[in-house]
Amino acid sequence: MTVHERNLSASIDPVKLDRLAEVAIRVGLNLQPGQDLLLTAPAAALSLVRRIAEHAYRAGAGLVTPILSDEAVTLSRYKFGRDHSFDRAAGWLYEGMSKAFAANTARLAVVGDNPMLLSAEDPAKVARASKANSIAYQPALEKIVNFETNWNIIAYPSASWAKQVFPADEEHVAVAKLADAIFAASRVDRDGAVAAWQKHNAMLRSRTEWLNGQRFSALHYSGPRTDLTIGLADGHEWEGGASEAKNGIICNANIPTEEVFTTPHARRVSGHVISSKPLSYQGSLIDEIAVRFEEGRIVEAKAARGEEVLRKVLDTDGGARRLGEVALVPHSSPISKSGLLFFNTLFDENAACHIALGQCYSKCFVNGGKLTAEQIAAQGGNKSLIHIDWMIGSDQTDIDGVHADGRRVPVFRKGEWA
Ligand code: ZN
Ligand code: ZN
Repeated sequence: MTVHERNLSASIDPVKLDRLAEVAIRVGLNLQPGQDLLLTAPAAALSLVRRIAEHAYRAGAGLVTPILSDEAVTLSRYKFGRDHSFDRAAGWLYEGMSKAFAANTARLAVVGDNPMLLSAEDPAKVARASKANSIAYQPALEKIVNFETNWNIIAYPSASWAKQVFPADEEHVAVAKLADAIFAASRVDRDGAVAAWQKHNAMLRSRTEWLNGQRFSALHYSGPRTDLTIGLADGHEWEGGASEAKNGIICNANIPTEEVFTTPHARRVSGHVISSKPLSYQGSLIDEIAVRFEEGRIVEAKAARGEEVLRKVLDTDGGARRLGEVALVPHSSPISKSGLLFFNTLFDENAACHIALGQCYSKCFVNGGKLTAEQIAAQGGNKSLIHIDWMIGSDQTDIDGVHADGRRVPVFRKGEWA
């Protein structure tokens, strides 16, 4: 170990890091005795990966299989790879993952890569590599978005990411600050983390139960440069916090999480809306997105920054211009209060109300697990290779729930639950 590395890991509180590993296994995955675990992580997060393996085996894991990625290896492809390299993807690996999930293997993803890693690379190559990967990953991703197995995402404060969030700080200070922000948002900054998560899940459940009882047919948003009606899918169901995967295991897919969310109707969105925070997408920042919807489809799109990238995203496929998720997050959420832009959806989407372009979650339907792809489409569920969340909420956002008969119920006022 070099002095440099020793300094960096010294910036991360080992007790809280261990608690994060424990929460990932006990709350995030709720890993069951005998269950195998597939784990992906940046190589920089090895210290967390080792703690996760320990907690997994203590919980009775069958086999823990880690797959590590590395930023320098990724960059080598762009620096030295021949042109044909950029249409390649590890389809064999994703097919294996898909088989593993079908055989009840749990899935844990540790995120922590530098969000701007590819920002200086040729955008055409980045887009080709990303598309090839998306297509190859589809069989495995489908099993995750459909909750065939219990899964969880957590974050590790790697140095390259920390320097993006805190560019003015020295590396070890930036890492310490990002570590603190991750630990606080993930509710592992104090004792009793597992109990804190149970309490948080109960609060989110009370929100989803209220919304599911209302059975709104649409949500209407008003705010600065915003007048948007989002029709909700027929038979939609609100989800939030803990949820039951198809293998019967109750898991918390995202840590942290502050949102309650459901499926909008892909053909019943109209009006206009602007983004309230920048969107970090594959090494690019897209800021001040302004779009107009007609019959569910984005017919006009602008951005003050990153408009070219936005246009490429919208042209990915037929579903990329339609919504696949609508989520409610109060402006007072702890992540919003931190005031940080993390350049990472796991955190940034929990700072504000948001919508997602692209693929919907079949789970966000009543009896969603039993619906066919055709039924989901008929009820208004969207299909796409992409799923990109972007923030539309602020302290000025008002949201009304609209019933089928036109009756309106206040849901949010000035960015908070009404
Ligand atoms: Zn969301
Ligand atoms: Zn989303």
